[in-house]
Amino acid sequence: MGMQIRQTDIRGPGRALGLRFVVDAVNAPDLASAWPTLTKAHGDPHLGELDASPEPVAAAARALREIFAIHDPRQAAASLNHMLAERSAQPELAELADGRWALRPHLADASTAADTLARVGAFALATWLAERGRCAWGLCEAPDCDRAFIDEGRRAPQRFCSSTCATRTRVALHRKAAVRGAPTA
Ligand SMILES: [Zn+2]
Repeated sequence: MGMQIRQTDIRGPGRALGLRFVVDAVNAPDLASAWPTLTKAHGDPHLGELDASPEPVAAAARALREIFAIHDPRQAAASLNHMLAERSAQPELAELADGRWALRPHLADASTAADTLARVGAFALATWLAERGRCAWGLCEAPDCDRAFIDEGRRAPQRFCSSTCATRTRVALHRKAAVRGAPTA
């Protein structure tokens, strides 16, 4: 067997309630209403029964969104460490349905959606920072888009949430340059 570079798949089943859940939660326009659907889609329907009062859950999402805006790893680490401590998100080993083991934040005593989101979010982003060695995430730089995204690339840092946003930004820039460069009649 040849050496293989291990690529973390953030969509893998071992990552239930992981990075994709965090991104979807942070990007949800109405998180309180979306909470049961989101937790179900990301593998833990029981969490959908938690109290998802709009204000606290929106505050937790905002706090995580602020992390997505940070690009300095030391600053991000300080914020994440603070969030982990504040929310008592100590890690524990959990056996997944398929028999594999996952390291996750302790959730049994998280009584609200806000608490759960903060613990899961801070833990997922902290793990990802450690794995990538940089803030491999961001907020989309396209006009009229502020979606949070996870940067899975290996080369240049990602600036947009999707190829759609990257393309339309490039097209807009070209158009602007063309207008500027157009000969005046
Ligand atoms: Zn975008």
